[in-house]
Amino acid sequence: MTDPQASYPDVDPGRAAMRGRCPRCGEGPLFDGFLKLRPSCSRCGLDYAFADAGDGPAAFVVLIVGVVVIGLALWVEISFSPPLWVHLLLWLPLSVILVLPLMRLFKGLLIGLQYRNRAAEGRLDA
Ligand SMILES: [Zn+2]
Repeated sequence: MTDPQASYPDVDPGRAAMRGRCPRCGEGPLFDGFLKLRPSCSRCGLDYAFADAGDGPAAFVVLIVGVVVIGLALWVEISFSPPLWVHLLLWLPLSVILVLPLMRLFKGLLIGLQYRNRAAEGRLDA
């Protein structure tokens, strides 16, 4: 039995995710737009139908951005006690600025890891 992954060089999922590239060849684009996946890789033809990151990227991003933004908000509140509008002015834009690139990065990373580890839904053998 031939392994379809064996004829391609080993692609680092983190590096491919940072560049938004295919997890198999590392060259073709993974995304069609900002977060929407392409149907397949334009270079190696890998069908992206297997790719389903689900809520994983959002969970990681919420945890990471939440720690950063809440930590900074607490520090500013304790140190300077600014009015509420200052908090809104600081933390809402910062949250959006941090969330957008991290969502794309984590979606690409989880799909790359899913491909590398051949992760799929569990099935019962008949
Ligand atoms: Zn490819």
